[in-house]
Amino acid sequence: MRVHVVDHPLVAHKLTVLRDVGTDSPTFRRLADELVTLLAYEATRGVRVEPYEIRTPVAPTTGVHLSAPKPLVVPILRAGLGMLDGMTRLVPTAEVGFLGMIRDESTLQASTYANRLPDDLSGRQVFLLDPMLATGGTLAAAMRFAFDRGAGEVIAICLLAAPEGVAALEAAVGPEAPVTIVVAAMDERLNEHGYIVPGLGDAGDRLYGVV
Ligand code: URA
Repeated sequence: MRVHVVDHPLVAHKLTVLRDVGTDSPTFRRLADELVTLLAYEATRGVRVEPYEIRTPVAPTTGVHLSAPKPLVVPILRAGLGMLDGMTRLVPTAEVGFLGMIRDESTLQASTYANRLPDDLSGRQVFLLDPMLATGGTLAAAMRFAFDRGAGEVIAICLLAAPEGVAALEAAVGPEAPVTIVVAAMDERLNEHGYIVPGLGDAGDRLYGVV
């Protein structure tokens, strides 16, 4: 499993405003969207392309276009939805599936409550969107879903990760699994409630308010 922490001053700046408890939901949503586009640029570095013949106004030449099957982008509901536009802005022809997962706040176990994914993901590159890699339970379950359907590679885009969650995820999927995590920052630790420290609080609540 590869973990790529994106080291860029604009990423660090936007993340600082996201973390600030005084940032309101509209600003949080806009910044999360911008941040995801920057992370997506790194996350798609290995996206599969193939040669494509075109003519410029001057001469024929060979470029590239995205290979079929197209990448599949999967926001993990609820908070991952706040990352979808930032991702599809960069890869507008990607297909989009949905996975609804909820974390039991007492056991910290993740369970699936909604699934709109193709049954066959043979050989596909799957981009999972989940802002917080905390205990790793949600992403581990989502990756199991993808690999059980034949996915060839999974790339998870997260805003923040905790070292404990990365270790738990690696233990769950195995060190050799074709998995890449792209994240804006690796934080210090998890607290006793499973929240990332210093973190940014509950990503879903900060995006959409408390329900
Ligand atoms: N989920 C969140 O939204 N925030 C955390 O810190 C951990 C899990």
